[in-house]
Amino acid sequence: MDMATDLQDFLIRLDRDIRARGDWGEVADYIPELARIAPGQFGIAVVTADGALATAGDATKGFSIQSISKVFTLACVLGRIGEQIWTRVGREPSGLRFDSIQLLETEDGRPRNPFINAGALVVTDELLTGRGPQDALAEILGFIRTAAGDDDIHIDRAVAQSEAGTGHRNIALAHYLKSCGNLRNAPELVLGTYFHQCAIEMSCVQLAMAGRAIAGLPDAPPVLSRARARRLNALMMLCGHYDGSGDFAFRVGLPGKSGVGGGILLIAPGRASIGIWSPGLNVFGNSHMGTHAAEALARATGWSVFG
Ligand code: GLU
Repeated sequence: MDMATDLQDFLIRLDRDIRARGDWGEVADYIPELARIAPGQFGIAVVTADGALATAGDATKGFSIQSISKVFTLACVLGRIGEQIWTRVGREPSGLRFDSIQLLETEDGRPRNPFINAGALVVTDELLTGRGPQDALAEILGFIRTAAGDDDIHIDRAVAQSEAGTGHRNIALAHYLKSCGNLRNAPELVLGTYFHQCAIEMSCVQLAMAGRAIAGLPDAPPVLSRARARRLNALMMLCGHYDGSGDFAFRVGLPGKSGVGGGILLIAPGRASIGIWSPGLNVFGNSHMGTHAAEALARATGWSVFG
C-alpha cells in the first residue's frame, strides 16, 4: 500500500470496523482521572516518509500519554549524558508488570530497562541532575514540542495530581531505588517530576509528528541522531509493551511504546510514524483496540520489520 489515498481509505475502514466491534477493554482505574475516560473511543494518525498525514477517528483529541513519555525522557537523557545512563539502568525485557518491584531486590536496585516504572524513575532522576523539576519538565516538553513541530502540547495538572494522590507503588519503587543508592534526588522530587511527565497530553496527530525523528523520516526535526533512534527502536521493540512486548512483536512486528492512557507510539523505521489511541486496556495494560489497530495496519501495509 503506497498511495496516500489507499492508506487514508484503509484508516477510515479500520475506524469503522473497530467501532462496530464495540470490544473496548477496560480503562486504567488506579489513576482516578483516567478512570473517568469513556472507553469507546479510537483515533489513529500516520505520517509517512513523504510527509503525508492520514488520520481517522478521534485523531486530534488529546489524551494522557503516560508511559509514552518514557521514550522522550530517555532521548533527553541520552542527549545529555550519552551512554553513561546504562550504568544505572539495563536494557533487557523484564517479563513482569510495568510497576513490578520484584527484580529490584534481586538485581541490587538496577532496573531491567528504562520503560518499566523503576527504570523510568531513574531516567527522570538523571534529568534532575543539577536543576529542579520545573527545568527538567521544561526540557521534556521542549523536546516533544520540537520533535512534533507543535508548541500546543501541555501537562494536564489534574492528571498529575490524581496520580500523586494514589501512586503508592511508584512511591514504593522510588524509595526502594533510593535505599539501593540508585536515586540521587529526594524520592518526592523524582516522583513529582515523573507524575507530571506522564500527565503530558497529546493527540494521535501530535504523537505521530513527534515520532518522525525516531522513525528516521526525511523531514523530521534533528532532535536525535540515527544511532540513538536505532537504539530507541530496539528498546521499544523489546520492552515497549511491558510483559506484553513479545505478544506485540509477534502480532505487529514494529517497535512501539504504550501508555496506560491507551496511547501507542508505533514506529515503522524509515517508513512512518504512527500515533494510536483507544483508552480501554488489555490484560497487559496496553491499549486493547490500539494493539488491534497496529496489527491490522502492519498487515495491510507490510511494514513489519520482520519482512
Ligand atoms: N503514570 C503511570 C504509572 O506510573 C504510567 C504507567 C504506564 O503508562 O504504563 O503508573
